[in-house]
Amino acid sequence: ERQQKTVASLVQEFTIEPTKLKAIKDRFVIEMRKGLARQGETLAMVQTHILGRLDGSETGTYLTLDIGGTYLRVVLVELSQGSKMITRQKKYAIDPLLKVGEPKLLFDFMASCIGSFLLANDIAIPKECPLELGFTFSFPVLQTGINSGTLIDWTKGYSCHGMVGKDPAELLRQVLLSRGLSVNVSVLMNDTVGTLLSHAYLHPRTVVGLGLGTGSNAAYIERVDRIVKRDISIYGDDAEASSKEMVINIEFGAFDNERQVLPLTMYDNKVDRKSLMIAGMYLGEITRNVLLDLIDNRFLFQGQSSRKLDKPWEFLTEYMSVIEEDVTPNLENVRRVLEDNLALGRDEMQETNVGVDVKPEGIAVEASSQIATAELSPREPTTTLSDRQIVKLVVELVGQRSARLAAAALGAILEHTMGCTWARDEVESEEGVDIGVDGSLYGFYPGFESDLVCGLEELFAQEPRMSFLCKKDKVRLGRCLDGSSVGAALGALLATRQ
Ligand code: ADP
Repeated sequence: ERQQKTVASLVQEFTIEPTKLKAIKDRFVIEMRKGLARQGETLAMVQTHILGRLDGSETGTYLTLDIGGTYLRVVLVELSQGSKMITRQKKYAIDPLLKVGEPKLLFDFMASCIGSFLLANDIAIPKECPLELGFTFSFPVLQTGINSGTLIDWTKGYSCHGMVGKDPAELLRQVLLSRGLSVNVSVLMNDTVGTLLSHAYLHPRTVVGLGLGTGSNAAYIERVDRIVKRDISIYGDDAEASSKEMVINIEFGAFDNERQVLPLTMYDNKVDRKSLMIAGMYLGEITRNVLLDLIDNRFLFQGQSSRKLDKPWEFLTEYMSVIEEDVTPNLENVRRVLEDNLALGRDEMQETNVGVDVKPEGIAVEASSQIATAELSPREPTTTLSDRQIVKLVVELVGQRSARLAAAALGAILEHTMGCTWARDEVESEEGVDIGVDGSLYGFYPGFESDLVCGLEELFAQEPRMSFLCKKDKVRLGRCLDGSSVGAALGALLATRQ
C-alpha cells in the first residue's frame, strides 16, 4: 500500500494537467515579450539579423561549416530551381585537446579542414569572387550582426581559454585569410536557425524551427516592429519596421530560471538543469534519480541498486526509448535493459555485456553474439514484473512531461506569432503553418511527437483566439534533418541579399 501511495504521488508530481500546461505557456509568452523588449532577460530572444523569408526559388552554391560536440562538418550546398539541393560533405573528428587549448589552434583546424575539403573536391575559387560561407556555431552567442557576435560561454565540453567575449566569425576570417582561402564568412548562426531556414526552403509556410536533441531550443520569424530592443538606427521606427521580418533565436534553455512556473520535482533539482527539463541530455539522469529514490525506499529491486545505476549519467535517455517501446507481456526488453545493461537485481560479479545495445540513431540492435550468449545461458529473471512495470511507468512520466513542456513552448511561440493580425489572417485564409523539428529526442523517442501534438491541441482548445489552429493540418510538424548545412547555406544566401 505504501508502494501504491508513492507511485500515485510520482504520477501527480510529473503530470502536467491542462491548466498547468496553459500557465506554463502563458508564462512563456510573457517571457518572450520581455526578451524582445530588453537585453538580459531570461529568454535571450537573440536577434539573428537574418531578414526576409524564403520561397524555395533560391539558387546558388554555398559552403558551410558546422561545429558541434565531436565533429566538424564542411558541406558544399548547391541549390537549384525547384527547391533542389545537392550536397557534398566531409566530417572531421575534433581532437579533444583542441576543445580545451588555444582558440587559435581550434580555428586553424577549421580553416585547414575547409582548405583540404576544397582541394579534395577540386574547387578553385577566384580571388575576386569568394565563396560565401555559412558558419553554424552552436554555442551561446550574443549576436551583434548577421555575421558577427561574441561568445557568451562555452558548452559541450569546450573551454578554449580567452574566447569568451570574442567573435568566432572574426577568428574564422583571420585564419581563412592567413591560409589565402577566398571564402567570405557571410552568416554566423546556430543550428536551430538552420532548422527553420532549411525547412522553410521546402515548406515556405515555416514559421518555427525547433531543436529537440541533446538540448532544446527554437527559432521563429518575428515582425521587426515587435522587437522593441532593436537598433532603431538600423531597422527604423515602427512604421518602417512593420514591413520587415527577422529570425529570432529564442535560446529557451534558460526559461523559468527563477522557478516561478515549472513544476520542478526534487529529482530535477539533483540534475544540473540548464534546459527546461526537455533536453534529451537530462531525461535519463532524471529517471535515474527517481529510480534510486524508489530503491532507497525499498519499492524496487528489493532495495538493491547496482554500481552502474549508482553512477551519474549511466541511465541513458536511449534506454527510455527501448523501455517505452516494450509491449511484450513480460516486459522482456525492460528486463534486458535493467538486468543486462544496468546489472540490476543481479550479482555484479557476473556482469556481462549481454544487453540491449542502443545505437545513436535510436535503433535497438542485438549483436548476434549477444543473442547467442543469452540463448546459451537462459536464466530466470532477477527483476520482478512489478519492478519492470514501475520502471516503465517512471520512464513514461518523465518522457511525457518533457513532450508536454515542449508543447507549452511551441504553443507559446505560435500564440505569440499568431497574436499578430497579419500572421493570423495568413493562417486562416491560407494553408496553415509548418514547423521544422530536428533532434533525436523528437525523431526516436516513441510517443514524443504524439504527446507534443496532444499538448498543443489542448492548448489551442483552451484559448478561443487560437482555436482555429485546432483544425486538421493547420499546424504541421515535420522532421528536418540537414538544418546545419542547408540552413546555413540559406542563411548565407539571405545575408548576401541584405
Ligand atoms: P544534438 O542535439 O547534439 O545535435 P541529437 O539531436 O542527435 O544531437 O541529440 C542527441 C541526444 O538525443 C542524446 O544526448 C540523447 O539524449 C538523445 N537521444 C539520442 N538517441 C535517442 C533515442 N533513441 N531515444 C531517446 N533519446 C535519444
